[in-house]
Amino acid sequence: MYESAVQNLIDELGRLPGVGPKSAQRIAFYILNAESSEMAKLTDAIARVKKTVSFCEICGNVSETKLCAICRDEQRDPAVLCVVEESKDVVAVERTRSFTGRYHVLGGSINPMAGIGPEQLRIRELVARLSDERITELILAMDPNLEGEATATYLSRLLVPIGIRVSRLASGLPVGGDLEYADEITLGRALEGRRIISEGTRAEAANPAEDFEAALEAETEAKEQQAAAEQAAKGPRARWSGSMFDDLDSEDAATSSPAEGQAELAAAAAFEAEEAGEGMRSEELRDAYEAKLEELKKTPLRTVAPELPPIPGKTYVNPWT
Ligand SMILES: [Zn+2]
Repeated sequence: MYESAVQNLIDELGRLPGVGPKSAQRIAFYILNAESSEMAKLTDAIARVKKTVSFCEICGNVSETKLCAICRDEQRDPAVLCVVEESKDVVAVERTRSFTGRYHVLGGSINPMAGIGPEQLRIRELVARLSDERITELILAMDPNLEGEATATYLSRLLVPIGIRVSRLASGLPVGGDLEYADEITLGRALEGRRIISEGTRAEAANPAEDFEAALEAETEAKEQQAAAEQAAKGPRARWSGSMFDDLDSEDAATSSPAEGQAELAAAAAFEAEEAGEGMRSEELRDAYEAKLEELKKTPLRTVAPELPPIPGKTYVNPWT
């Protein structure tokens, strides 16, 4: 225990936020040893702050006038309101130079352990401000801790039914940090709040395995088509037809093109149908035959050409008999 005046000073300093008993003692002895004029500056500053500085009537930010500098600034966007816990948070957001809207300072966060509920915060004032039609979005910029979380949750439950756009600050990874050292909550939030760089064109294809199967199928189909095209380009399988096998090969050659064969079949069917006197049916078939014929006329004529000329003096055997 020190002399009562010194102990009194230590006790008072110890009540300041972030000042423990050891620090309070150190500061008290610093004050005791310091020049009187220096310490007069400190006491003056404290007295002046208490006398002149109060809180902005609109946003609750610290201000020497009725309205703070931000609320007086006509250039600030009245549509967006950033809700923060303390005036120091206003300074922090202002430092980013990326917010042009206005603020609302709650004066703390919901903390049941310290007896701070929604009634102790400037939430009623916030709701009253929302009657201003110009406000279209609220950004909840609470501290990323338990109390801040509770406050943001309370506010979003209260404000979403009003029909206003409510957003929260993304929590993510610190610049210059290392993914490996990020705590689970931060990393989880960073994943949750990830930003889309490109929507992509395959957004609806959720299964990569299915994609792979489809790609394989398409490839096989393309190969088959190519093979068919090559086959068509070559024409019907060329086979020399010697006079001795003319009769045997003629049928094969005549039906070597499926389209031609079909046309013939259709024509025969049409003829037969007409013979049978099936009026409508035969007319239909005749039309089909005419159409097929027109189609065939347009396609290039394919003739059966042997790849090699017959070798004189050699006997050819038809392998199909
Ligand atoms: Zn203000």
